[in-house]
Amino acid sequence: MDRLERAISSELDLRVVVAVTTALVREACERHGLVGAEALVLGRALTAACLLSTLSKSETERVRLEVRGDGPLGKVYVDSRGDGRARGFLGIAEEATPQPLPERVGRRRIGALVGAGALAITRDLGLQAPYQGVVALQSGELDEDLQHYLDHSEQMPSALGCEVLLDAQGGVLRAGGVLCQTFPGGPEEPLQRLRDGIAGGSLYDLLRQPRTTEELIGFALGGLPFEVVGATPLAFECSCDPARARAILSTLGADDLVALADEQGETAVRCSYCATSYTLAAEELRALAAELRSERS
Ligand SMILES: [Zn+2]
Repeated sequence: MDRLERAISSELDLRVVVAVTTALVREACERHGLVGAEALVLGRALTAACLLSTLSKSETERVRLEVRGDGPLGKVYVDSRGDGRARGFLGIAEEATPQPLPERVGRRRIGALVGAGALAITRDLGLQAPYQGVVALQSGELDEDLQHYLDHSEQMPSALGCEVLLDAQGGVLRAGGVLCQTFPGGPEEPLQRLRDGIAGGSLYDLLRQPRTTEELIGFALGGLPFEVVGATPLAFECSCDPARARAILSTLGADDLVALADEQGETAVRCSYCATSYTLAAEELRALAAELRSERS
């Protein structure tokens, strides 16, 4: 089962968050019909968002990542909550040609697929107004870019790695990630060792076998003793529902709704995040239009 686990190493003053995201990433990719390179990109972003949404230990915390790269897979949207729910999609045309799977050089590098551009991170702690930081993409590997963001914008020296392993058909075999952080002035050496390891493919190699969150923590800390401070089950889950679909259609206005009802028997609204379609029959569209008109008068 997918889960996220938090631990600390008092010995070295390090904080670790790890996540096994296999089922979550697999469901996201199946819902959106993504395999191969596309699955790698979405899976890395989803796993990273899960790791990032646990900083405050608040269940209402929410993190949104928006990747704005100029590569063929450069548009990524994911959204993760402190209670372990995450969702996301790639901004690609349905008829887009699948991208070739990048060769493994240590790890499979996706930077060329994501391209150059920016990464927007929105943190909503459920208290004040959400905070948004926008940074330039460094390598397009996504985990490296977020690590850079944490180091420089949040002043939390970090090592962050997320990997997705694929099966022979390009489907998601295994996914997971680790985030190790210290405080400004804290020990750099264990972080650098982890960063170098991830860049060289050590996390990728580790995930060739099924791993528990404890094993991932052990990996992140290089075998140092640790104390587990909390765990959260993870799952792909979207917050859309029929009411939201109706609300989206309402923005068309009463006249357009009636025109739509006259034109076609039914109208479908598809959620970008989870690919669920909500279908409204012509009578429902007319009822919605009547509702809007009565609200206005
Ligand atoms: Zn949805």
